[in-house]
Amino acid sequence: MAKKNRQKKYQNSNGGHIEDSSNVIFDPMSVTWLEKYDKIVSRIWNKVPTSVGKVIATVATFLVGISINGDWVNLFVHLRKQLGYATGRSLSETSIMWNSISIENLRLTNFSFYFISSCVVSYTMYFGVGGFLHWYYYVRQRDRPYEWKCQPTKWLSPELERHEIILGTFSLTLNMTVSAILATYIANGGYCTVYYQISDYGWFWFLLQFPIIYIILDYITYWIHRIYHFPWLYVRFHKLHHKYKQPTAFSVTAIHPVESLNIQLLLITPLFTIPVHWLSYYTVVIYNYYHGIIDHSGVNFKAYWWQPWQPDAIFHDNHHQYCHVNFGFNLSIWDKLHGTFRLKDRVYREDIFFGNGKAIQEVSEAELLEDIKERQSENPLAYKNNKLDYELSPAQIKRLKSKK
Ligand SMILES: [Zn+2]
Ligand SMILES: [Zn+2]
Repeated sequence: MAKKNRQKKYQNSNGGHIEDSSNVIFDPMSVTWLEKYDKIVSRIWNKVPTSVGKVIATVATFLVGISINGDWVNLFVHLRKQLGYATGRSLSETSIMWNSISIENLRLTNFSFYFISSCVVSYTMYFGVGGFLHWYYYVRQRDRPYEWKCQPTKWLSPELERHEIILGTFSLTLNMTVSAILATYIANGGYCTVYYQISDYGWFWFLLQFPIIYIILDYITYWIHRIYHFPWLYVRFHKLHHKYKQPTAFSVTAIHPVESLNIQLLLITPLFTIPVHWLSYYTVVIYNYYHGIIDHSGVNFKAYWWQPWQPDAIFHDNHHQYCHVNFGFNLSIWDKLHGTFRLKDRVYREDIFFGNGKAIQEVSEAELLEDIKERQSENPLAYKNNKLDYELSPAQIKRLKSKK
C-alpha cells in the first residue's frame, strides 16, 4: 500500500522525481512508513477545521524543537529550582574531592532518572510529533508541492530519508545524554552562573539578556557553521549534513556527532560564564530550536510581522541547495557583514568554497546552465512578495556575462 500511495502522489507532483516512484519499497526506517497510515490519519484529520490544524502543526513544530537537544529536562530542573525544590548543595558547601571521585562527588546522583526520562520524551517527540509533521506536509500534501514546498520538483530519496533518520536519532541520543548530564549536575548543585531571582541583577539586565544571548549565540553559530565549511572540516564532518539538498525537519539533528557535540558545548557556555536567568536563556534557546525545525522543514515558512530580524525558511533552504553560502541562522546580518550572503550575480556550488561563490562571468557554460536550472526549481511562494529573488532573465544573463 505504501508503494502504491507514493507512486500515485509522485506522479501527480507535476515535475517531481517520477523515476523514484518505481524504486520505492516499504522501509520501516525511512519516512515511507508514514504512508502506510495515510488513509487512517487523513480520515481523522479531515474532521479537524483548517485553522485548528494549522495551530496543531505550529505546536508540533515547537514541541519537536524543544526536544532536539533533550533540553526540556534542563527546563524541568530549573523550574524546580525556581519553585524552591532545589535538592543539591552549592559548590561552595562541598567542593569536588579529586582524590575520591564518586558519582555523588561529580554531582551525578540520579543520572539514570534524568537520562531515561529524557530518552522517553525526546524519542516520542522526534518520531511521534516529528512523524506527524512529516505526514502533515510530505504525505498529506505530496500531490500539491507548489503550494508549500521550497523546492517543489525535488524530493529526498527514501534512502536519504532513512539516512537522515538514523543519523538524526544517533546525534539526538548524544545530545540528550549531554543534556541529561548537565541537568543532573545542576540539579545536584553543581557550579553554574544561572540565577533565579530577577532582583539579584535587576530588571534592566534581565530584559537585556534576551537580545544579548540571542545575538551572541547566533554569532557563535554563524562562525562554527562557517568554519565547518572550510574544506578540511567540511569533507570530514559537515558534508554529512549536506547530503540533504532538500532538507526536512528530520535533518535538524542529522549532523556528524563530533560537530553536534561541538555546537552543543559552545551553546551552553553562557550558563557557566555570565550571570543568566534560566528563563531568558532557555526562551532564546527554544526559540532558536523552533526555528531550526522551520529552517530545515523544506516548507515555505515566512517570518511573522513581529520578527523583522528573522530570515524566512528559504534562507537556510538555499544553504542546502547551493551549499557554501548563507551560513547564518536567525539573523542574516552576519552573512551581509562578512560577504557570505547569497547574491544574484554569483554562482554557488559544493565545489566553490568559502561563501563568496564565483562571479557569473567566470563560470563555464555548463555550470551556468546547471545554476539556472537550480534557480528555476525554487518556489516563488517561498520569497517575500511571492517573487523569485534570484531568477535571471536571458537579458540579465547576457548583461552579467559581458560585465568585467
Ligand atoms: Zn552547512
Ligand atoms: Zn542545515
